[in-house]
Amino acid sequence: MLGLMQSQQLLISSLIDFAERHHGEVEVVSRRVEGDIHRSTYQQIAARSRQVAHALDRWNLGFGDRVATLAWNGYRHLELYFGVSGSGRVIHTLNPRLHPDQIVWIANHAEDQVLCFDLSFLPIVQVVHGRCTTIKHFVVLCDESKLPGDSGIPGLMSYEAWIGTESSAYEWPDFDENCASSMCYTSGTTGNPKAVLYSHRSTVLHGMSGALPDGLNVSARDCILPVVPMFHVNAWGLPYSAVMIGAKLVFPGPAMDGKSIYELMESEKVNFAAGVPTVWQMLLSHMQASNLRFSTLKRTVIGGSACPPTMISSFSDTYGVEVIHAWGMTEMSPLGTVCTLKNKHQALGAQDKLNVRIKQGRSIYGVDMKIVDGEGKELPWDGVTFGDLLVRGPWVIAEYYKGEGGSPLVDGWFPTGDVATIDADGYMQITDRSKDVIKSGGEWISSIDVENIAMAHPAVAMAACIGIKHPKWDERPIIAVMKKQGAEVSREALLAFYEGKTAKWQIPDDVVFVDAIPLGGTGKMQKSKLREMLRDYRLPVA
Ligand code: ADP
Repeated sequence: MLGLMQSQQLLISSLIDFAERHHGEVEVVSRRVEGDIHRSTYQQIAARSRQVAHALDRWNLGFGDRVATLAWNGYRHLELYFGVSGSGRVIHTLNPRLHPDQIVWIANHAEDQVLCFDLSFLPIVQVVHGRCTTIKHFVVLCDESKLPGDSGIPGLMSYEAWIGTESSAYEWPDFDENCASSMCYTSGTTGNPKAVLYSHRSTVLHGMSGALPDGLNVSARDCILPVVPMFHVNAWGLPYSAVMIGAKLVFPGPAMDGKSIYELMESEKVNFAAGVPTVWQMLLSHMQASNLRFSTLKRTVIGGSACPPTMISSFSDTYGVEVIHAWGMTEMSPLGTVCTLKNKHQALGAQDKLNVRIKQGRSIYGVDMKIVDGEGKELPWDGVTFGDLLVRGPWVIAEYYKGEGGSPLVDGWFPTGDVATIDADGYMQITDRSKDVIKSGGEWISSIDVENIAMAHPAVAMAACIGIKHPKWDERPIIAVMKKQGAEVSREALLAFYEGKTAKWQIPDDVVFVDAIPLGGTGKMQKSKLREMLRDYRLPVA
């Protein structure tokens, strides 16, 4: 027997329709490439997304055709999120931090038809446009008056001229919720970039579960600053969640430095922000150097790579900001787990609470997970036993675009490439990425643990631990350290700092001071580059 309720497809257009009708006056504030602050509302965003849909129709773009963006977080990018997907096309967010050759490869592989880009990326587009064989139209996200005259890019149009003459009356098409809505290539830290193709259904469900109190916990009472980029995994779904619940959105544009982020938070009364640890490190350094305090920020979600415990305590002890640690990946839309406390943890002392908060967290509804051994046998949830982490759920990948790499699933589960423990309360903790784990004398050393200790030293700005081949132990850890500006610490002092904080055999064999730790396109440490940098390095003779 079928249920007798209305059957309505879960389409992305329904989110912006809802925001327009119920939260039309709510603001979307963006720092633009030009440096000024632009103010818009959901009513305006909705009307202009419909103009985008018309403009794509005028170019005869087919259902499912890809429209690429090279853009910062901003209102025009948000309009494209809804105008492109809502009208049945697929928005393909390109990562501008990639090498131009990679951008060309990805745009051709995705068969993008249109490229919309921010003015700051004009130099990249000038280099790549001739080699992007499928792109027919180039649109620069600016006013007509800012359109560069002699770009050399054929038919280049300004966004405002492109959508400006279109009507804002448009009936969003109705179609199967399983149709593709958006596309993002993995950042390639785990091999060749592969495309993950999200659907309307997966996106709406992910945005809804992500907004839950034990998820990112966002509501109409919030003012959200997603520092996490809209060009990589849809800014953790925040643009969809925020529109769904009618929260005010504040976009930082290209200005990700501590001073700009702080000023925007204060002037717009942001109470919730999301980003990767490297960005928050810049913000905290700025706050410390200028002796500043937040007047409205209450919560921040940190993920994308392990959040060092010192960052969690700095935020809470010094600034009264709650850090919520989260974990996910491109293949998971990206949210998997969020570290919110259960009732039983409320009464814990500060250190015990911190011990829970440093974990990557519990599954949000929709994500099922398990850890397995080398033979695929499920391992216990005891918080100690670690194994390969597998996930499944309605916003977890089933297959890469164009079937690249064959089926990624094992008995219906997606292997994340992460190694983790899960405790009896369901809190998952990442030990490492499987390829970064250090195997020493038959035991495993978590590079994240080694890094977290170094990061707790006041002179250390960033630390990356890698394994170095060792004739007796197979591999031994060393720690590459970037010091804070003006701060000093010796190799010996840092190694002594490990004493008593971890087992002796887990203390790194050496400290290598570097000017900078290589970061990838999404602000994560690139250990492959670091290994390359240190290829002539030899362990000290004991
Ligand atoms: P990639 O394309 O490199 O896989 P993703 O952005 O999809 O890029 O990265 C996903 C990976 O990032 C996860 O598999 C995990 O290794 C790491 N990661 C994400 N969040 C966290 C976290 N909170 N703690 C530790 N690692 C994390």
